Amino acid sequence: MVLCPECDTDLDVDKDELEEGDAVSCAECGTDFEVITTDPLELRPVSDDDDEEEEAKEADEDEDE
Ligand SMILES: [Zn+2]
Repeated sequence: MVLCPECDTDLDVDKDELEEGDAVSCAECGTDFEVITTDPLELRPVSDDDDEEEEAKEADEDEDE
């Protein structure tokens, strides 16, 4: 059983099925989490605005040269 770090609600996911980089979302508070590590399990809230975390921009570069 995995609890939501935000509201302690059962996230209804199996810890054994989680892998690093997986995304889980809490049905109760609506927060999305990213699995940072699985042992121990560490979840990081993913916010919509990425002011703090600079995500790698996957620019679809259509270099037509
Ligand atoms: Zn929650």
